[in-house]
Amino acid sequence: MDGYSHSATIRDPAPLRPAASSSAASSSAGPDAAPASQALRVMQRTLKAPIDCVGTGLHSGKRVAIALRPAPAGHGIVFRRRDLGIDIPARFDWVADTRLCTVLAHPTIAAARVATVEHLMAALAGTGITNAIVEVDGPELPILDGSAASFVFLIDCAGSVEQDQPAACLEVLRRVRVAGADGSYAELLPPPRNAAAEIVPGLSARVAIEFSAPAIGAQAIALHVTPASFRKELAAARTFALFANIEAMRQAGLAKGGSLDNAVVVDGARVLNPSGLRMEREFVRHKLLDAVGDLALAGVVLCATLHAHRAGHALNNRLLRQLLAEPANWRLRDGALPDFLQQPAAPPRAAGASA
Ligand SMILES: [Zn+2]
Repeated sequence: MDGYSHSATIRDPAPLRPAASSSAASSSAGPDAAPASQALRVMQRTLKAPIDCVGTGLHSGKRVAIALRPAPAGHGIVFRRRDLGIDIPARFDWVADTRLCTVLAHPTIAAARVATVEHLMAALAGTGITNAIVEVDGPELPILDGSAASFVFLIDCAGSVEQDQPAACLEVLRRVRVAGADGSYAELLPPPRNAAAEIVPGLSARVAIEFSAPAIGAQAIALHVTPASFRKELAAARTFALFANIEAMRQAGLAKGGSLDNAVVVDGARVLNPSGLRMEREFVRHKLLDAVGDLALAGVVLCATLHAHRAGHALNNRLLRQLLAEPANWRLRDGALPDFLQQPAAPPRAAGASA
């Protein structure tokens, strides 16, 4: 069971609080509709204090400790392998595997990896944290309760503080689309505009999934992701697995830490977790949570419309690579680009083929 060193063990979704004034993203536009107006400016944000916790890696099954630490403006999110003394920045072009989770890896030091980053990345992006150091003493983040709620709870325990520089907001200018062989796709389009014709920071997402298991079936969600809507609609949605696939994953040496405490398990029409689902359409909400985390690896606040159909970590990462490979696809509205976006995107790695 995952325990916290700073707080009581959490077994159920962390309490969902109203959004702190962590971003201007949900505020309405003022009469001044100038580009990057103050009303719509997103400021950089970091943690007020360090905080740590201990949990279990979903795939390794091993106990792992992490610490979230404040970082200065312009720093971005950086994972720090304490056991190796190596930093692994949270950047899309360092994604090395996407088959069951999103794995970041150092391009030249094979052992310097960190897996299952997507739920923490979603929690950081969802709460508006743009700068942090994530120390970890092994190759995989803890799965905690399988959602982002436990990470949001940690961030709330640490507190957060606005910094004196605007966050880089990347506006998508034209449609970018990637598709899988199975009819799955993901695309980014320009963001919607409000009544004052200003683009609103963040993702306006429409995500759909389709599973043959009747307990999941076809589900869809449409949501403008803001700190408030992330907390209310997405953070508590847990990862899920089909019972029929679990034995195969175990035989492949994966999902060793998986249990009904950190995943929804579905067998046909049944949800095997005794307490059932936390919220209606929990499955598609989790898919959007994953997308928020995966797309946060752009290292900027995305201003875009996202359409995704049966997409997953692989398509999410391909989408970012395609978006950022072509400068005509986007423009910067505010802030400064992280260093890695100022250089040509790295060529695609041999990431996992599945979506
Ligand atoms: Zn997930």
